[in-house]
Amino acid sequence: MTAVFARISETEDKIGAFITITEEEALLKAREMDEAGIDPDDLLSGLPIGIKDNIITEGTLTTAASRILEDFVPIYDATVSKKIKEAGMISVGKLNMDEFAMGGSTETSYFKLTRNPWNLEKVPGGSSGGSAAAVASGQVPVALGTDTGGSIRQPAAFNGIVGMKPTYGRVSRFGLIAFGSSLDQIGPFSRTVKDNALVLNAISGADPADSMSAQQEVPDFTAGIEKGVKGMKIGVPKEYMSEGLQPGVKEAVLKAVETYRSLGAIVEEVSLPHSQYGIAAYYIIASSEASSNLQRFDGIRYGYRAEGAESLDELYIKTRSEGFGDEVKRRIMLGTFSLSSGYYDAHFKKAAKVRTLIRQDFEKVFDSYDLILGPTATTTAFDIGGKVKDPVAMYLADILTVPVNLAGVPAISIPCGFSEGMPVGLQLIGKHFDEQTIYRAAYAFE
Ligand code: GLN
Repeated sequence: MTAVFARISETEDKIGAFITITEEEALLKAREMDEAGIDPDDLLSGLPIGIKDNIITEGTLTTAASRILEDFVPIYDATVSKKIKEAGMISVGKLNMDEFAMGGSTETSYFKLTRNPWNLEKVPGGSSGGSAAAVASGQVPVALGTDTGGSIRQPAAFNGIVGMKPTYGRVSRFGLIAFGSSLDQIGPFSRTVKDNALVLNAISGADPADSMSAQQEVPDFTAGIEKGVKGMKIGVPKEYMSEGLQPGVKEAVLKAVETYRSLGAIVEEVSLPHSQYGIAAYYIIASSEASSNLQRFDGIRYGYRAEGAESLDELYIKTRSEGFGDEVKRRIMLGTFSLSSGYYDAHFKKAAKVRTLIRQDFEKVFDSYDLILGPTATTTAFDIGGKVKDPVAMYLADILTVPVNLAGVPAISIPCGFSEGMPVGLQLIGKHFDEQTIYRAAYAFE
């Protein structure tokens, strides 16, 4: 454990992955465990882990990278925080992110910038950019992130590591600061596929505290992981390989297709015809849910409270004006507008219908295929400052990840080469609750 903190202090000035480092608690816990004796067959016991700062941790500052929660110390643990403790993992701190997980570059954090360890002038992606950069720079072997529209997979791709967004309902959201409740999932980052599966084993499972968590048997995700892909049927959506891809990204993904063929998989072109409407539907649905979820930040119950307000209304307005950043305000306005009585049918209801069509696209392909393969993102990591002033450009960059959340299916990003000196991510999408096939194919590629 001391080596972990030595590595963090050596690199953190440059990377900026953490909002809070819990060195004292982690060292104490590690010492206790050492003294009690660790079972050498227990692969997770004593494993250091970083946690994205929108996941509640008892007694440790949890900010969601927002000023409005700058002094929020929760009095309970999220289900996943509890589960990682029960598995013997030791949290080393809380990781930077876009404010309330809204963004794709970690630049909307109230606290700091996180840099991509492969090139410090590039973003680490987002919103789980701190989690991905911490793993990629060797600060921690594994970390937890959250994915509402790509926030695990895209930073995994940008940092050349493995990131899994499990099936909606696989991992409890209890204690996750909600963004888009019908889309949010917590999942692991790691450098290897097997580590990823091990951490997912530990955090999965039904939870009465999350009404949407699924009553599904949790298999051992590492079981059969080495079985290979012989005879596996993989579909490559033509919409995911069309124009707009950085040439080096396309090249790396086509090479991955060849690798899968050489390993015995049957890889064919398929179609997800409604993908093109994914961004519009996602930003309406996610923002609508966010505008509702963020109502609780009113300056009364927790977090930041503005000074000098003379009425209750003024207190709400001042607190929220000062406490939320620009991107969060943009989402609240977009969401409130989409849900307002005159516009509900034209926007929210329409988006919900598109969501059904997108889910049906996936179901149709999965009738005859085991997996869907494509790039995780259209480009590699972009320059710091490159998109943050152009929200629409930032939104459009999510085109390949948001359909997965709208459909609720699981998907992983694994490294598949380089383009223009930066890592490229390969996205493997599976059937509902079939993370096992994803891990098996990911492991075969590694
Ligand atoms: N970039 C997307 C957004 O800004 C996805 C975020 C996420 O998955 N948390 O909404």
